[in-house]
Amino acid sequence: MNKVHDQDCIANNASEQVHNDQDSNTDISYSELYSMVIETCDLTEVINSYFDPTDGSCPKCGEQDFVIMRNVKNDRLEAWCCFNCYNSVYDVIDFVVWIEGIDETEAVRKLATQANILE
Ligand SMILES: [Zn+2]
Repeated sequence: MNKVHDQDCIANNASEQVHNDQDSNTDISYSELYSMVIETCDLTEVINSYFDPTDGSCPKCGEQDFVIMRNVKNDRLEAWCCFNCYNSVYDVIDFVVWIEGIDETEAVRKLATQANILE
């Protein structure tokens, strides 16, 4: 009788907050595009197009805490972090968001265009 109806799926979907909107110009879904960008764009090259990371200086805070990290699973340098001002691990798309101050959708489109994934 008093069946409580509080079973609303509380599973935290935040991390997979899905990018399911379709890109307007193509048939590629945003999530596919996102993966393609991650796969295609070389983090080091993208970073080099903004600044020289060799001494580890962070372009935002100036501390020598900027590192590029290797993903051991695929042996690619595809994560980065500034331990001083942005202490978490991020990918190439987050880098463009961070450095350009644009939103993620714009960053994905920009990288996809540069990589000739999008015309
Ligand atoms: Zn920093």
